[in-house]
Amino acid sequence: MKKFCIFGDPVAHSKSPQMQNAGFEYLNFNGFYEKYHLKNGDLIKEEFLKNAYSGANITVPHKEKAFKNADIIKGIAQKIEAVNTYILDDGKIVAYNTDAPGFLKAIESFGQIYNVLILGAGGTAKAIALALQEKNINVTVLNRSQGKLEFFKNHNIKAYSFDDFEKNNFKNEKFDLVVNSTSAGLKDDFLPVPKEILENILSKSSFAFDCIYGKITPFLDLAKNLDNKIKDGEDMLLYQGVLAFELFTNTKTNSSLIEAMRKGLNSNKN
Ligand code: NDP
Repeated sequence: MKKFCIFGDPVAHSKSPQMQNAGFEYLNFNGFYEKYHLKNGDLIKEEFLKNAYSGANITVPHKEKAFKNADIIKGIAQKIEAVNTYILDDGKIVAYNTDAPGFLKAIESFGQIYNVLILGAGGTAKAIALALQEKNINVTVLNRSQGKLEFFKNHNIKAYSFDDFEKNNFKNEKFDLVVNSTSAGLKDDFLPVPKEILENILSKSSFAFDCIYGKITPFLDLAKNLDNKIKDGEDMLLYQGVLAFELFTNTKTNSSLIEAMRKGLNSNKN
């Protein structure tokens, strides 16, 4: 039997095992996926090899450490400098970032998008911004503080803090899609951006996406009230998992397998 895990700290809340195991069951794939509470991200390679895992996912806060510890980095992960998937191939750890294409898949239902505003500048914002940029979609980042903006500017992505909002032209700019990639609304009732700024933005946009899943956050609530079509982060979580699953099992998924994985994701077991 092949063993897989998700490394994280904390990891107890993760729904990846129930989603991945549902996929294995559907395929009759001889595999088992478990949670691995890893406190020290520097040990990720050692623990992965010691436990004889065939593959793994990596969640907060270890995606950058996982990037640094991998032997080979594939695709867009080289630019993002963070990975969420490990595969063991011929004794080497090959690493991927499936958050980025998972996000693109999740927003497909909005149709053609030309101009996106990302709220937040953390790890998820990096993956999303570079994924959109690769598709030649115009991206702007808005974050509450300046500290994390350098990464985006280095990749030719416009990046502002709230203080810049009044100064720059984008007060008048119109975005098709606004994405909340901050943790505002995850465990609190905060908006990711001061209300007057957000109202200005959302009154001109058409779509709003929140990376947080399983709830209508204050961001999505405001967006809906301002006539945006809204979507939470469930599909993003599902599709990053589906893309990792394809790498784990070396198979191409189809719609009934994806629905089995969604059912696993939404089941009550944990
Ligand atoms: P990070 O910690 O790397 O970044 C968080 C960002 O949010 C920072 O830019 C931070 O700003 C900003 N922020 C945090 N709190 C607030 C607040 N109260 N108001 C305004 N800005 C705030 O987190 P991640 O990028 O890893 O994750 C971001 C979100 O995405 C989380 O909610 C997570 O659950 C979700 N997520 C969903 C996934 C899915 O599959 N659906 C996958 C991955 C993440 P500052 O720089 O000023 O500190």
